[in-house]
Parts: sequence; C-alpha cells; structure tokens
Amino acid sequence: MTLTDTLRRPLRDLRISVTDRCNFRCTYCMPKEVYGKDFQFLERESLLSFGEIHRLVRLFRDQGVEKVRITGGEPLVRRKIERLIEMLAFHGDLDLTLTTNGSLLKHKARALKDAGLKRVTVSLDALDNDVFKAMNDVDFPVDRVLEGIDEAARVGLAPVKINMVVKRGVNDSDVIEMARRFKGSGHILRFIEFMDVGSTNRWQLNEVVPSAELAARIDRVLPIEPIEPNYVGEVAERWRYRDGSGELGFISSVTQAFCHDCTRARLSAEGKLYTCLFATEGTDFRAPLRDNASDAELTALIERVWTRRSDRYSELRTAETTKVHKIEMSYIGG
Ligand code: SAM
Ligand code: SF4
Ligand code: SF4
Repeated sequence: MTLTDTLRRPLRDLRISVTDRCNFRCTYCMPKEVYGKDFQFLERESLLSFGEIHRLVRLFRDQGVEKVRITGGEPLVRRKIERLIEMLAFHGDLDLTLTTNGSLLKHKARALKDAGLKRVTVSLDALDNDVFKAMNDVDFPVDRVLEGIDEAARVGLAPVKINMVVKRGVNDSDVIEMARRFKGSGHILRFIEFMDVGSTNRWQLNEVVPSAELAARIDRVLPIEPIEPNYVGEVAERWRYRDGSGELGFISSVTQAFCHDCTRARLSAEGKLYTCLFATEGTDFRAPLRDNASDAELTALIERVWTRRSDRYSELRTAETTKVHKIEMSYIGG
C-alpha cells in the first residue's frame, strides 16, 4: 500500500544532508555575516553515521522512496562520502544522485561513479569570476567548477544538471551567456528562482527574476519551447532549444508553486526529518536510532510523520509567511 499524506501525495524522494558545513558562503544560503569564524556547526558525533543513514534509507525505500539525493551543506566535504554512496548503491533499485557546488568534483567524480552514483547536479551561478564571487562570497575560480562538470560527464555521471540561482541585479546579466555555454553540451542548465528559505539570506521579492521573464529573455536570442515533464512531481519545468540542441529547465518555487505534487522529504545531517523545505520543525530520528529502536518502530515513525503531512508553503506564501523563522537550507539540505 502506498503511503500518502493528507493531500494524497506519496513519499517518493528523500534528500539527505550529510553535513551542514560548506567551503562557499553563497549570500542566498550561508551569508558570511551569520556563518562566520565563530559559527557553531554540528559536532561530528551529532551527525548521523553512514550506517545510520543506510539503515534509514532501507526503511524509507520500503515505504516507497525511489530517489535519494545526497546534499548539504557541501556533501563532498564530508570525509569518505563515496563510502556512503557505495553503501546506498547496494540498494540497486534506487535513483541515487548528489548535488554539489563542484569545487571538489574534479577529483571526486571518478570515485563517486565507481561507488555507484548515477548522476550529479552542480551549482554554478555565473561564468564571470567577479559575478561568481558576488554570489558565493569566496574566491573560487569558475574554471575549476567547469573542470568538475567536464570530469563528471567524462566518467559517466550524465547528463549533468547545472543549477543557477538567479538574483536580480547580481547575476541575471549572466543568464544568456550561461545558456549559450551549455547549449549543445549535453548538460541541462536549470534556472532557480531565488527563494525565501531560512531566515538569514535577506530575501526580497524584488530580487527574484520570475522564470517566465527569463524564458522570454532566452527565447529572444536562443529560441526555446516547453516540453512534457518526465514524471509527476518533477521540480523543474522542462524546455528545449527549438534547433534540437538540448534541454534546459526552470525551477519556479516562488512564481509557480509545485506543492500539489511534492513527494519530497528531507533528512538533516543530525537526523531530523522535515516534510517541507520551508519547515519550522522536524522529527528526530537520531534518538530512536541510538536507543536501539526496531525497524518496525522506525517505520511507524516514518508513517506517522508522512500521513500527517499537509505542507504547501509555496502555494500559501505571503509577505507575512516570508518573515517566519524557518530552518536554514544548508542544514535541512537543498
Ligand atoms: N552545496 C551544494 C550546492 O550548492 O550545490 C548542495 C547544497 S545547496 C543548499 C543545494 C541547492 O540549493 C543549490 O543548487 C543552491 O544553489 C540552492 N539554493 C540554496 N539557497 C537557495 C535559495 N535561497 N534560493 C534558491 N536556491 C537556493
Ligand atoms: Fe554552500 Fe551550496 Fe549553500 Fe552555496 S548553496 S553556501 S555551495 S551549501
Ligand atoms: Fe514541497 Fe514545501 Fe516546496 Fe511545497 S514548499 S514544493 S511542499 S518543499
């Protein structure tokens, strides 16, 4: 029997944050003034071990989860992350993917592929080094991320998806150049509307560039058309270049909410389960795991959380909801 929530949405995807740490300080995610030298990240012992994650994934899979995305923070800064991939890939039927800022990908791609990872999503907000820096607030060369993308494709973690968060007045000038760069490359560039996740990124509606505006801008120079989704609940709206040179996507959480078929749960690095990216509270799985809960007890907890779920934040977003204190993206997992 399929486990469904109060809005009849099944549980299909699990996003797992394996660390709350990151080597970037993207202004829209981990602004430096909050995540400075003194910021207290989670202690090592509070993170779920690979064994604990593996056990939970097995139980979630039994409840209908088909897709697992490893994320963070920056997942590639967690030591021996490929070991976790290997453990999860043991469940051969899972669609196993990972989202990364790409900074360590060149050296890790082969090990990740060999461990059983299927694909990667790489975040890249600009091709111009100064604009890239204005987004991630560290001095990291764009070329190194591009090398990571090339290596991922070379070892077969393909198609590589590339996530570009667009902030008006900061990197929207790079949109066409990004589209040109990845058109015909076999990679899929996706434009993400700047979202009001967490409570530290000083989100303002006037910095969001609606996907419809971006699509129109791109269409004027590189003609595009919408195409059918691959499956129900797909986050990105799919488009393709009319000349047949590939696909691109738009993730429009602000202007075209897709809560009605949201099938995603998120597990934080310390083992709290959240049923929405914009949640204010989660359910602790670490304590029962470490108190020797049985599989049946953990499964009952998963069922209890999911069957009570009624989240649809993006459909209900107002000026007031954006001010509520929400969990940070680097903690909950993007
Ligand atoms: N560090 C990895 C990375 O950047 O790809 C994985 C974690 S990151 C939180 C996951 C995704 O969330 C990235 O593509 C990032 O650009 C996106 N993201 C973070 N904060 C966001 C925001 N405020 N609005 C839209 N997307 C955001
Ligand atoms: Fe780090 Fe990813 Fe957040 Fe940027 S978006 S600060 S790379 S976790
Ligand atoms: Fe899913 Fe929450 Fe995002 Fe809606 S706002 S799509 S329920 S994560």
